[in-house]
Amino acid sequence: MTGTSLDAAGLRGRTRELLAAHPPADTDRLAFLQARFDAGLAWVHYPEGLGGLGAPRSLQAVVDAELEAAGAPDNDPRRIGIGLGMAAPTILRYGTEEQKRRFLRPLWTGEEVWCQLFSEPGAGSDLAALGTRAVREGDEWVVNGQKVWTSSAHLARWAILIARTDPDVPKHAGITYFLCDMTDPGVEVRPLRQITGEAEFNEVFLTDVRIPDSRRLGEIGDGWRVAQTTLNNERVAIGGMRLPREGGMIGPVSKTWRERPELRTHDLHQRLLKLWVEAEVSRLAAERLRQQLVAGQPGPEGAGMKLAFARLNQEISGLEVELRGEEGLLYDDWTMRRPELVDFTGRDAGYRYLRSKGNSIEGGTSEVLLNIVAERVLGLPAEPRTDKDVAWKDLAR
Ligand SMILES: Cc1cc2nc3c(=O)[nH]c(=O)nc-3n(C[C@H](O)[C@H](O)[C@H](O)COP(=O)(O)OP(=O)(O)OC[C@H]3O[C@@H](n4cnc5c(N)ncnc54)[C@H](O)[C@@H]3O)c2cc1C
Repeated sequence: MTGTSLDAAGLRGRTRELLAAHPPADTDRLAFLQARFDAGLAWVHYPEGLGGLGAPRSLQAVVDAELEAAGAPDNDPRRIGIGLGMAAPTILRYGTEEQKRRFLRPLWTGEEVWCQLFSEPGAGSDLAALGTRAVREGDEWVVNGQKVWTSSAHLARWAILIARTDPDVPKHAGITYFLCDMTDPGVEVRPLRQITGEAEFNEVFLTDVRIPDSRRLGEIGDGWRVAQTTLNNERVAIGGMRLPREGGMIGPVSKTWRERPELRTHDLHQRLLKLWVEAEVSRLAAERLRQQLVAGQPGPEGAGMKLAFARLNQEISGLEVELRGEEGLLYDDWTMRRPELVDFTGRDAGYRYLRSKGNSIEGGTSEVLLNIVAERVLGLPAEPRTDKDVAWKDLAR
């Protein structure tokens, strides 16, 4: 191996060695991705042996640019967003060595898709109120309950799951975090159809699902703290995506504006300019947030990015529908589909308009994120919480 240094030149050298040993044109896609992981070029800021080299996160762009120029396959990040953006950082932080070695490689290559079993019919914004029970039996936990709005559960091999292991303590204290095998016999996945007509998410019933204690992530009763890592990463994964200029929803509407002068009005022009600037500011702020993450895990400030992302997507897609007039009201296909990936910006204007409604709900509603920003970023007084010291089993439900 040439450069052992972990600066840009060193990483470029390592990437070229990977390409020379596994020329993309002659290498099977999965074999290439596995070789990339083993070379530490998957996510360079991860530790050695786990797909990284312990290099600064900002240098990932150097590797990605080399690989893209060489026509190398990527791991289709939109298809495995929950694994990459949420499960992986949580496993990295709280997993045992054995768990990290077992799960991170197939997660990154896309061989194993992940989903998130957090929300329940009675626990969304108030997630800590969740009622799915996990009861210890020897070396196993027996899990019973229902989860809802589970994106990609129909594709997933694994799930990150939080369940109640102690109902006798206050709600935040009695939760434990598990890695759940979605192919276990007690796991039933049913489609839920959305406003877009698609069934991107599901309800998931868990009946006597047996999870070995070796698939517990973190300490018993510490699941709420572990889940904060997942949720903070989720907000960055949703709101802080790396995009080129005009890469998000502002792209298609700007294109229509340029190509269809007959649709333009003065009022829409003013609104488009304002949204274009806001989209660009938001994109650059996301870039800065990612750079701040170079050294560690995201905190509550990711909530701000996700708030901006949701508001902009809804305003921009609304403008696009208006701009297109009657044509904007057409919808390409109402047949129920089970999409292979969660696609915020895909398909036609009608899809973007409808899909963006979910952006202010998924990953925490905008109202709840405003509370987080107020309390944990700005240090404003907290909302009154009357259930903090009450055992979960005594809470009104
Ligand atoms: C497209 C999509 C994908 C999703 N994917 C997943 C997934 O993969 N896994 C998963 O576990 N969950 C998923 N969710 C669920 C999502 O996290 C929840 O819907 C969300 O947290 C809100 O919970 P809820 O639906 O129970 O609404 P509720 O919590 O009942 O909220 C109802 C309304 O009350 C408001 N509200 C509640 N509490 C407060 C408060 N304290 N202050 C002010 N307003 C408040 C909310 O903002 C909202 O407007 C997904 C949701 C969507 C829309």
